[in-house]
Formats: sequence, C-alpha cells, structure tokens
Amino acid sequence: MKFSKGNTLIIRKSLIRWFQKNQRSLPWRKKYDPYEVWISEIMLQQTQVTTVLPYFERWMKKLPTIQSVAEAEEDVILKLWEGLGYYTRARNLQKTARIIMEQFSGHFPDQYDDILKLPGIGKYTAGAITSIAFNKPYPIVDGNVIRVIARLLNFRKNTRLPENVKKFWKWSEELMSHSDTRSFNQGMMELGALICKPQNPDCPNCPLQKTCKAYEKKTMDRIPDRGEKLKKIPIKVAIAIIKKEGKIFIQKRPRKGLMGGLWEFPGGKVKKETPKKAIEREINEELGIRIKNIKKIKQIKHGYTKFSVDLYCYSANFDKGEIKLQTAVDGKWVTPEQLKKYPFPAANVKLIADITPSPPKAALPLT
Ligand code: SF4
Repeated sequence: MKFSKGNTLIIRKSLIRWFQKNQRSLPWRKKYDPYEVWISEIMLQQTQVTTVLPYFERWMKKLPTIQSVAEAEEDVILKLWEGLGYYTRARNLQKTARIIMEQFSGHFPDQYDDILKLPGIGKYTAGAITSIAFNKPYPIVDGNVIRVIARLLNFRKNTRLPENVKKFWKWSEELMSHSDTRSFNQGMMELGALICKPQNPDCPNCPLQKTCKAYEKKTMDRIPDRGEKLKKIPIKVAIAIIKKEGKIFIQKRPRKGLMGGLWEFPGGKVKKETPKKAIEREINEELGIRIKNIKKIKQIKHGYTKFSVDLYCYSANFDKGEIKLQTAVDGKWVTPEQLKKYPFPAANVKLIADITPSPPKAALPLT
C-alpha cells in the first residue's frame, strides 16, 4: 500500500493551495515566532484549538518571552495551565525555557536534533516546531494526520498498533512537500480538524477527494480503525474543605506524579467504606488531625485519561490535632478569596467556583 507518484504530487499541491486559502487565523500563525509555535504545540497536545486559544493569549500576555518562562514562579506557570490537564507539559516548558537560556542564549534552537532533546518534546512536536517555525522538511504524525492518510489509502487495519504507526511516519514523509513543509504539515492538521473530521467528514468540500480511496469505496466512516476503546477505571474520591477561623486548608501535591505541583483540598480514595467515613479516615491519616461537622456539599464527576472519578466533596470544621503532612509537600490556611490565586486540578476548580461565587453572592460560610 502506497501513494503513486502522480497522487503524491496532486495531494501536495491541492493541500497547500487549500490551506493557504482556508486556514484559520490563529495567533501563532501571524509571525511563526518559534517561541509562540512551541507554546502552541505543547498546549495543543490532546487539546482542541478552541480550548487552547484563551490559554495561549493569557500565557503570552503574562510570559511574553522564553526568559520570562525560565524565571517565572512554578505556581504562576501552573496557574496559567490550570484546566488544560497533563501538568507535566507545563513543568517541562519551564525546564526547556531554562535550558534554552543556558545553552542557546535564549534563542529557540532551529535544529531538529536539538529540539528533540528538549524536555517534553517527542518526535511529533519536534517535527511540528521544526517544520512550522523554521519551514524545514520534517514529517509529523498525530491523530489528524493518521485519519487523513488512512482514509486517502483506505487503510483498514488498526492504526494504533506500533507497526502501523511506523507506516504512517513513512507515508507522511513521502507525501510531505520539501519546499513548503510549513503549509503542508499545517494543511494536513487543518484538513483533519475542519474537513476530514472523525465523524461526518465533509468530503464534498475536500480538496483531496479525487485521490481518496476511502471516498471512492465509501468507507470513510469506518476509518481509522482505532481498535478497542480503553475503558476508564471508575474510582471514588472524598475531599474536604476544612475550615478554621475563617480560613480553608489547602495542600500542595509532590512535583512528581499525577497533577504534580498543584494545590488541592485534602482527601483520598474511598475504600470499602462510605465516602463520609473515608474523608474522616483520610484526613486523620494524611494530616494527623480530627475534623467535625462533616457535611456533604457536592458530588462532582470528572474524567481523566484513565479514570472516571466520582468526587465527594465535604465541608468540615477543624477539631483537634496538629497538622503533619504525610504526602503533600506544603500546606497552608488561606481565605476563600485567596483560593483563586493557586493552581488546582480541574475538579477542585469546579468546586472552588461553587464555593467562592463572584460577588454579590456569599462565599462558603466559615465558622
Ligand atoms: S474525501 Fe473525505 S474521507 Fe477522503 S480525505 Fe477528503 S474528507 Fe477525508
């Protein structure tokens, strides 16, 4: 299975022409500044353009240069990332910024091999930055590219299998334009996002329709075959907003691991017990204190990559004991207004929005 020479040339030309006419106006496409391209590419991993746009604008306003990222407080970085998920990406951005300051005099490197060595940058992102920011001929393969190529070739096998992913890298490289890789690679991604969508691809308006085998055989809806969908593991978690003298206790997660470096309300997994019992036990084990007046305030469902979490949220008053952190690396009592300054995981953010509504509504009653 491969592209004929004739089709390769048609696809290249048609896609570049289509992209130049139909591309969305996006802030990182204005100057193709390597810093902006890099930030956008990291934000766009697992995330849609419409979600990324406000994050990108906020980020650039607050951190307009690589130097400002290198010198920022980690909490500032995480706060700007709050809600985007996969927080290692944000921490790696700062590591990378510091490397660029030290090893590349603050200029984003333009060599593929140098870019690939930077933290958090894999083959896809290195190819994207090198081709989009510097217009150098490196291929990219992501979900959009796989879908478009799989349909063009009527590729019916499981596209997730590593041996098949390798084929897509080969095809992407073969198809790629060497003179305008910037437009070609972005065109592939843009076509996947706007026309060759996972459901109901807009084939009548597709510039590649004449060369598309899936269109010819009317198999578009069955391609790509992504194999069995992974089932999310359901877990129950209980957390508590512990109040003492007008303040609420928050703690910081260790830097390594899931949602590392974020602040959170204390709590933990519900075992073979009720969520209420779980929160009493967790607070005692995690902080070494006792709480009283435990009241359920909300139940939030939140999906992560591998888990679907049922979050039982309680309010409680501090009763007795002295806080001794077990797993958290920091802990503090803050006012409800101060909560919004700290970076929290998405589910905690939902809760904070509820308990600290904008004025004139009253915040969580504190006793
Ligand atoms: S013709 Fe349809 S299926 Fe084929 S590439 Fe275009 S949008 Fe995708």
